[in-house]
Amino acid sequence: MCFFSGLCQRRYGCRASSVKIVLIDFHTHTAASDGALSPRELVALARERQIGMLAITDHDTVAGYLAAAGDLARTAREEQYTHNTPGLRLIPGIEFSCRWSATTIHILGLGMDCDHPAMGEGLDLLNAARIERGRKIAQRLEALGFDGALEGALAEAGDSQLGRPHFSAWMVASGHVADHNQAFDRYLGQGKTGDVKAFWPELAQVVAWIVAAGGVAVIAHPLKYKFTRMKLRRLVVDFMAAGGTAIEVTSGYQTPDQTAQLRKLASEFALEVSVGSDFHRDGPYSPQPGVEPPLLDGLRGVWERWLPRPADADTAGAQQQP
Ligand SMILES: [Zn+2]
Ligand SMILES: [Zn+2]
Repeated sequence: MCFFSGLCQRRYGCRASSVKIVLIDFHTHTAASDGALSPRELVALARERQIGMLAITDHDTVAGYLAAAGDLARTAREEQYTHNTPGLRLIPGIEFSCRWSATTIHILGLGMDCDHPAMGEGLDLLNAARIERGRKIAQRLEALGFDGALEGALAEAGDSQLGRPHFSAWMVASGHVADHNQAFDRYLGQGKTGDVKAFWPELAQVVAWIVAAGGVAVIAHPLKYKFTRMKLRRLVVDFMAAGGTAIEVTSGYQTPDQTAQLRKLASEFALEVSVGSDFHRDGPYSPQPGVEPPLLDGLRGVWERWLPRPADADTAGAQQQP
């Protein structure tokens, strides 16, 4: 079976006989940031749902993607001997937070070279800022008499990125507070002693890192910021001036009207379109991973750059013949 058929049939007229349209997803999270599943569990779920292309886009880290890519490479080597196809194309991804017009905006980077010096520069800067923020929170808590806050929070964080939830977990574990809510209500929540604002780079800066590393920059969940139409257009103009070229037209649950509004915006500015679930975890109100590729109707999908070349598509189609 040609597992790209739903996508490449439209572009190349791939001859693979009609099969179920493959799902795609260019916005998902793992436990490397604030998702519930490990990278391996997310990939297993994506395969179960027959997702043909998946980007893991953790907040400010590529650790989840790298772990999943390492796993898939190992599996592919093993499967060479059993002649199974992996059936899933994993695309490098990240979701950067950044500042624009006094607001925090999320910009996805897709398909970039994670080892490129520009990505290294960006990730190092964010890492240093995160550690510095952790120190400030710890200093403030220690001034209140909570000795060992930094070491405690770092131990709670383990491999993940240090943040207020780790301070809260340490305070609960060491009996300083009854639970997470109390930790935030008294010490870490908005306006409390431990509320140190995070540092975020400027929009133009994160777009520059992504583009320099050969990736495509995408405005994530454009309607989540609740901007007026005017302000959203201003964001698009500034984003494009910085080198950004794509926008999410589907993110999680959306009404058809919202999707239509975003498609119109993409068309007007000749932006490429991307789609994603913004999957974090299983739950009654949480979108599951996997989105049907939308009809493009004159728009360009970011995923077109990762489709097999026509020769590959022909081969994939030919393999299907008895
Ligand atoms: Zn986001
Ligand atoms: Zn997200």
